[in-house]
Amino acid sequence: MLSTVDFGEADRIVTLFTRAHGRLSAFAAGARKSKRRFAGALEAGTHLTAWLVTGSGDTCRLDKVDVIRSFHRLRDDLARIARAMYCLELCREISRDHQPNEPLFDALAQYLGLLEEKKAGPTSLIKFELDALQYTGFMPRFSPCALCGQPTGDRPRFDPEHGGVVCASCSLRVPYGIPARPEVVDALARLQAGERTPMPAELRARSRELLNLFIAHHLGRKLKSVEFMEQVGTD
Ligand SMILES: [Zn+2]
Repeated sequence: MLSTVDFGEADRIVTLFTRAHGRLSAFAAGARKSKRRFAGALEAGTHLTAWLVTGSGDTCRLDKVDVIRSFHRLRDDLARIARAMYCLELCREISRDHQPNEPLFDALAQYLGLLEEKKAGPTSLIKFELDALQYTGFMPRFSPCALCGQPTGDRPRFDPEHGGVVCASCSLRVPYGIPARPEVVDALARLQAGERTPMPAELRARSRELLNLFIAHHLGRKLKSVEFMEQVGTD
């Protein structure tokens, strides 16, 4: 379950991320009025088995749900709520209707589980984002230079338009992007390659700037939950 919006007096439109069919919108009749029918199961982040009926339009009808895992312990800590909301919004925005993405689904379920069990620190969130972007074809490149393939050197720039980090000489040809610190680029490249070393807070903050820029560039807007993370003071 990615998100819900109220519809009329009694109903809801829910956005589901399904393992078999990708992102789907479903009409949940009576979800606002009837406690019995969905029994509070339509919370963002809940892992469900959903019985859906397809019709002629894009929106299915949600007939019944069973909760597989509610991740309810996530919801007693603001920092973990903020991270979970961020992941859900990211997945909602980068996934596609009716296009299955099993690696992304599995990564999201695993990340929410680790977050609930207090086993996912802030570096894990950055790793999740890098994996999520890779699974949806938006993978930023941190090493080597996204344009010439040479090492990015000591004055790299981060340029979402050209796919990631570019070296100093390429950045003269395409004068876009923002300066990136070599140690941040290196840490992100290592994380992307599968290293599990936790990043210090300063590197995480600089990484967040690059990822926010990259994601906003590809989506055409900043994710709303980024602001919530900033308000809560978490990363
Ligand atoms: Zn280059």
